[in-house]
Amino acid sequence: MAVSQTVDRPHPRTLEDNVNAYFDRAAKFCTHAPGLLDQIRICNSVYSFAFPVRHADGTIEVVHAWRAEHSHHKLPTKGGIRYSPQVDESEVKALAALMTYKCALVDVPFGGAKGAVQIDPSRYTVEQLERITRRYTHELDRKQFIGPGIDVPAPDYGTGEREMAWIADTYGQLHTGELEALACVTGKPVTEGGIHGRREATGRGLMYALCEACRSADDMRALGLSTGLDGKRLVVQGLGNVGYHTAKFCRMQGAIIVALAEREGAIYDPRGLNEDDVFNYRKRTGSILGYPGATDILRSADALELDCDVLVPAALENVLTSENAARIKAKIVLEGANGPTTPEADETFRMRGIMVIPDVYANAGGVTVSYFEWLKNLSHVRLGRMDRRRQAATEMRMLQAIELATGRTFSEEERHSLVKVTDELAIVNSGLEDTMIVAYQEIRDALRRQPEIGDLRTAAFVTAINKVAIVYEELGIFP
Ligand code: NAD
Repeated sequence: MAVSQTVDRPHPRTLEDNVNAYFDRAAKFCTHAPGLLDQIRICNSVYSFAFPVRHADGTIEVVHAWRAEHSHHKLPTKGGIRYSPQVDESEVKALAALMTYKCALVDVPFGGAKGAVQIDPSRYTVEQLERITRRYTHELDRKQFIGPGIDVPAPDYGTGEREMAWIADTYGQLHTGELEALACVTGKPVTEGGIHGRREATGRGLMYALCEACRSADDMRALGLSTGLDGKRLVVQGLGNVGYHTAKFCRMQGAIIVALAEREGAIYDPRGLNEDDVFNYRKRTGSILGYPGATDILRSADALELDCDVLVPAALENVLTSENAARIKAKIVLEGANGPTTPEADETFRMRGIMVIPDVYANAGGVTVSYFEWLKNLSHVRLGRMDRRRQAATEMRMLQAIELATGRTFSEEERHSLVKVTDELAIVNSGLEDTMIVAYQEIRDALRRQPEIGDLRTAAFVTAINKVAIVYEELGIFP
């Protein structure tokens, strides 16, 4: 008899298998009806399509693309667009599912989605990339898979502000006069309706997540570490958007970046690396290897096994596996990339007492600030524009009242530090910091309430599943 059940595969291979395995592990700690859990777990809709691209020599290539909307319990759905030659439908569905749980964890009122075009962007000219991006947007629009209230893409691996600007422009061309058109995509350049702080939001969010985890004296004692980021030794894989900014913000909090890993190899320097200098060196020479003063590691993946306090995989999925998990020396794994750890490696980390700060929470800074950008686009006004002067004037009057009451006059320097005209970036960063702290504490509390859950990832999935389940229960079933 065919029974709807989850088969425990001994060696899950795909990211979709992995995400489902994490879901199933967490579902055992939830009390919802099996049918409701099935509805939360399933990917609601996938649009799979193909279109031609013309090359300079006249040849035509067919390109495959997808958009998956995992859950419509909240609208719009939200998720990045990935340009990668390895991407396939299963990966897009898995990434869309992660978006659902991620949004729920950080209280961003969106369903999860993800998009992809199966190309290696480095093989195309800028003009071809623009045509591919515009055609992709047009296809999404034709099938109602994009729109400010429908589905809102953002950058992911292989895409950035440039592609988001093309998407916004294409959508705008197709929807002349639609007042909210700019809110059809986030991660745009600031000059095209983007928001200050979005570019670095994922890395900054990862830093806030690590700070919050490292604030607990009990948790750090259990790992044999001191509290705070000061002096913590980090190994970062991937010097792209997420890895670069995570390295930067953690270093600014006192962490030491002892190794950076890229495609061509890795470099190690126990005295600490500066991500900016390394980035510029790599841009100039075409390789991270040979960086002055550092030791070259020719097999990039070997860097994951270096002695360090915190390992930050911020490039690809499935890099921490049953093959290398036992050799990982980090006490904390901070997941910048989506799906860097397989369930087998996760199990090994749990057994070895390694703390994993899971992707589904840790890299949610990007979607959080995307939400702020979407709100900004809908309200048509820069954050803080309407009241920042009034607020500063109120603070100034308060200082004057204190001066009057105490008979003491504040110095110019004190005045300056106490009264601030808040700009958009400060508001965004404060909203992001608050979001990451609140979400971490929710996850940590779930683990405290049910210690048998065993780890932060499962606690994060339990928290997310419970939040989505409540929404489904309240909505009922249509018709
Ligand atoms: P990116 O394209 O900016 O950077 C990826 C970097 O990884 C590149 O520098 C690339 O050269 C490097 N890389 C590729 N293969 C590698 C290898 N084998 N070893 C070491 N480095 C390698 O992409 P990104 O936006 O930084 O995304 C990275 C990961 O973070 C992805 O898993 C993505 O889904 C996830 N993520 C991104 C965001 C975001 O806001 N950009 C948000 C959440 C999650």
